Amino acid sequence: MLSNKGDAAQDDLAPSTSSHESTSRAVSKVKLEKSVVICADILQTDDTERHPDLWFSDGSVVLLAQKILFRVHMSILSRHSIFFRDMFSLPQPSTTPPSYPTTFPTCRGDFDGCPLVHLHDTAEDLASLLNALYDGPKFGNNDREDFRVVSGILRLATKYLIDSLRNRALEHLSIAWPSTLKAWDAREEVAGEYYVDSDEQRFHPSPVHVINLAREVNVPSLLPSAFYDLSRYSFNALLDANNAATAALDVSALSLADTQKLALGKEFAQLAVPSLIRSMATETQPYLAHMQSYPLPAQPRHPQGRGQVRGSCTSAAACRRDVSELVDLATQHYLFDHERGACDPLYVAEELGLLKSAEMEGADCKACGRALEVWAARERERLWRAIPGWFRLETP
Ligand SMILES: [Zn+2]
Repeated sequence: MLSNKGDAAQDDLAPSTSSHESTSRAVSKVKLEKSVVICADILQTDDTERHPDLWFSDGSVVLLAQKILFRVHMSILSRHSIFFRDMFSLPQPSTTPPSYPTTFPTCRGDFDGCPLVHLHDTAEDLASLLNALYDGPKFGNNDREDFRVVSGILRLATKYLIDSLRNRALEHLSIAWPSTLKAWDAREEVAGEYYVDSDEQRFHPSPVHVINLAREVNVPSLLPSAFYDLSRYSFNALLDANNAATAALDVSALSLADTQKLALGKEFAQLAVPSLIRSMATETQPYLAHMQSYPLPAQPRHPQGRGQVRGSCTSAAACRRDVSELVDLATQHYLFDHERGACDPLYVAEELGLLKSAEMEGADCKACGRALEVWAARERERLWRAIPGWFRLETP
């Protein structure tokens, strides 16, 4: 476990100046003592095995993670990682046998003539990191399997001070756990396509694992979308350990503080739905009565809706009646029947905005339809901005 996670994150975007390196060196030397054990004893047991792929016959160092041995190159590790560069360049103590490289300080054992370094990481994470270093990172579609790889890379790139790889992993994760509404909608669209063809419960990994990763590697920007995603489950689903469909969410792995944030934020999210429906009833009426021209924001899922609303309501009385009926419908659907999306105010707002869609074939009053879309788009932006506050999250 890192003792000083914050430093790595703050260094993240800093240029590679000498002061940056010297800070990192100081940090990594402290970590070296705790994170790495170089030992021969482990080789007395023969239950270790070589990694089938990450074992290079001309490698110059053997890394041991759990029971798996990786034979790799000091030069490659040093090239990317300030941590390993420092470790391999520490002065050699007198106890080290003379046959060992002079750059390797405290090695008391070897494997195939290479110094052996015992890392306290999972073999899976280390394999993901080494594959990314040797072959370049190959990221997938942010599904659960991809998350196992990317989270391993991010964890170890953070721990071993590999800034470029850390940044690339974060950039990739941010596609699924974004900080803009536009990116959230794109992410929902990807997940939605998956659910059409699959009985699986989730496309993305459990937001619990994303929250814990964000805490571990100190990336608060992943938190709002992850908390929001998690809050869309009912408490019954979140807390019922016998519910196989949601057991995989692994809510018990959340820290107490984050569980409290979830409960707080979930209450706000639920209050947002009746508040939306009330807003629809009151705030769309003036549009209908005095419609002239309203700027439409860009809506990623409905690009044809961009531009200006031109023209005015042609049948104000009928449109007022329409809205009134739609409000009744929404109240019944989301508040009384608690239908799909009832715990997801962003989804509800989008649905409400499309109820009188101007794009619909034979829409009675296109101007009012667009006005409703404008209202929904504004409400969704407002909700999105409110999310970090609901969950009492520090602003990224
Ligand atoms: Zn109208």
